[in-house]
Amino acid sequence: MAAGINSKHLFSEAKRLFPGGVNSPVRAFKSVGGDPLFISRAKGAYLWDADDRRYTDYVGSWGPAILGHAHPEVVAVVQAAAERGFSFGAPTANENLLAQEIQKAMPAMEKLRFVSSGTEACMSAIRLARASTSRSKIVKFAGHYHGHADMLLAQAGSGLATLSLPDCAGVPAAAVADTLVLPFNDVASLEQLFKEQGEQLACVIIEPIAGNVGFIRPVPGYLEELRRLCTQYGVVLIFDEVMTGFRVARGGMQALTGIVPDLCTLGKVIGGGLPLAAYGGRQELMDLVAPLGPVYQAGTLSGNPLATACGLKTLQLLAEPGVYEVLAQRTRSLVRGLVARAHAQDLPLSGDSEGGMFAVYFRSEPVLNFADAQQSQVLSYASYFHGMLSQGVYLAPSAFEAGFVSLAHTDADVQHTFAAAEAVFASMRASSSSFSSARK
Ligand SMILES: *Cc1c(COP(=O)(O)O)cnc(C)c1O
Repeated sequence: MAAGINSKHLFSEAKRLFPGGVNSPVRAFKSVGGDPLFISRAKGAYLWDADDRRYTDYVGSWGPAILGHAHPEVVAVVQAAAERGFSFGAPTANENLLAQEIQKAMPAMEKLRFVSSGTEACMSAIRLARASTSRSKIVKFAGHYHGHADMLLAQAGSGLATLSLPDCAGVPAAAVADTLVLPFNDVASLEQLFKEQGEQLACVIIEPIAGNVGFIRPVPGYLEELRRLCTQYGVVLIFDEVMTGFRVARGGMQALTGIVPDLCTLGKVIGGGLPLAAYGGRQELMDLVAPLGPVYQAGTLSGNPLATACGLKTLQLLAEPGVYEVLAQRTRSLVRGLVARAHAQDLPLSGDSEGGMFAVYFRSEPVLNFADAQQSQVLSYASYFHGMLSQGVYLAPSAFEAGFVSLAHTDADVQHTFAAAEAVFASMRASSSSFSSARK
């Protein structure tokens, strides 16, 4: 279904107000074509657009909506918090409670600091790593996204992968001069870099599952080797779990792998949909942060009372036993079902998931890194995306983004998604065979 009349009208107005009509580039349908839907409300697993059409939502606000939208218990605590005042610029009890809730799931977060976005969290963690090591070089991986701080906009994923921008205009060469970019999942290049420059590296920042180019897990032993090298060379290991934290498992990838990072960044789920993120880790590192130490970092709205109320209730509801098993099972069956239905129509599709996070690629071979992901058929993704949208299924408008299942998605929702996929894959096959016969 193309955007309805109300979405079209709002978008033409928005294009006069905002660059590209949006306030974050991934919201535009640039890589799949067409106009974005304007969303008017959401409840549970569903979104409604400005034309009052309902969609099953697999974007989940790009990660936060793990309970489904507008969970009644979360709505109640946010309303109650609003009655008590929006922001005080002074400490509150809920900040302690939320921090303790995070620590229970992630013991590596010995001390933490709340900020308002994942961008801020990653930027601040790197500043701290540089301060603690008195070194300036940082290492990131191609296709991994850590927010839009200048120094991290070198071969980043998310909107940048989608738009195929090798870098970002406006970032001075000096800002990325100390940013080294490695291919993900390549042990040899990692070992070589440490051998040559290990003593000059302040930190390595990594998405322990690459989620901003879809879903790419680390090859066995990769994170272990990274941990070993960082320890050997005194390099701060930063797990960017903004997406994976409380999403692939309660304790994120650090819980699933048992690997303890020196610092960790969180966002998305921990705010439950309101702006809240965090960085934290080893106490002796965190004690370098102001006002205790010399590393300055601040925020007018950091630890905002509405956001901490929302995040705390979200994490409390996620602490119920069995929650992640249900989520993982539902997500796994979604991916398997999609792959099987594509194969039934001779379309190449592969996919993977962990907890409530997944992606599919139009490619038969496994995807191990950014270069592999870019080999997938982007045009097929665009047909799939628009086909599914017309069947009432809202997917990320890009071939290089993870998808998210929430606890509000039922088996019936997944079955509806399968029925939609059957129709879409059949028509994709029909148009691809008419295309190839037309060429003959
Ligand atoms: C979303 C994301 C960020 C950036 O978070 P924002 O809140 O959008 O600034 C950083 N790292 C990862 C892994 C992310 O998925």
